[in-house]
Amino acid sequence: MSTLEIRDLHVAVGDKEILRGVDLTVRSGETHAIMGPNGSGKSTLAYAIAGHPKYTVTSGSVLLDGEDLLAMSVDERARAGLFLAMQYPVEVPGVSVSNFLRSAITAVRGEAPKLREFAKELKAGMDALSIDPAFAQRNTNEGFSGGEKKRHEILQLELLKPKIAVLDETDSGLDVDALRVVSEGINRFRGLGSSPGEHSRGSGDTGVLLITHYTRILRYVKPDFVHVFAGGRVVEEGGPELADKLENEGYEAYVRDARKAD
Ligand code: ADP
Ligand code: MG
Ligand code: MG
Repeated sequence: MSTLEIRDLHVAVGDKEILRGVDLTVRSGETHAIMGPNGSGKSTLAYAIAGHPKYTVTSGSVLLDGEDLLAMSVDERARAGLFLAMQYPVEVPGVSVSNFLRSAITAVRGEAPKLREFAKELKAGMDALSIDPAFAQRNTNEGFSGGEKKRHEILQLELLKPKIAVLDETDSGLDVDALRVVSEGINRFRGLGSSPGEHSRGSGDTGVLLITHYTRILRYVKPDFVHVFAGGRVVEEGGPELADKLENEGYEAYVRDARKAD
């Protein structure tokens, strides 16, 4: 069992306050969707949790199983079991996907996986995500299409098996087929097979924070809780039905209220 606990989190970029008191608890086995309009601070939340140096936590706390995540380096956070799939994955020129993933696994597990076992794991992961085998030798994220970048993020997720996964707009820029493949990967990771009879490799002992602008992915990856983000705060919370409401009504009312509260 794991718990990510975010308490009254305030985050600034430079001297501009972006997150203004976020409270959120994610436990193993739960999937939380964070939904909100562009600019509401969703990525800022993801970066702050992961430890991006540009995002300054001015007050509040983030605990993973009671440990102060904010006191840890980015590496330590990953070793503690946190994973962030970025909205805009970065290119790593000169480092192949295969080497990148083996290094990441080594860093997180504290020892290098045996080459043969790693090759097997990598192949299984790539097969499951319908990724071309030649992909393993390409430079990480260099010239990848939007869909390839997102599949690569899910491949990392499946290989690293974090306790808590923060997925920032993993659905953006995907066509319907890629969205289905990526969603199935997330569901395998959650320990929930997405089609009848499908073998799931996850343990169900993981928590997912799924950040998205659109409700589309939530048809495939069913959230247990939905949080609406506006103006750097959670302004409404509910179950999956809240996503349906957002699909019909949009974010307009929340944005108006957030402005009024300023
Ligand atoms: P979302 O992911 O919900 O679209 P972001 O967290 O990306 O929102 O952005 C929230 C606000 O913070 C925006 O006004 C954005 O311009 C600002 N912001 C985020 N990151 C930076 C940055 N690195 N430098 C300057 N402003 C930033
Ligand atoms: Mg955005
Ligand atoms: Mg964003």
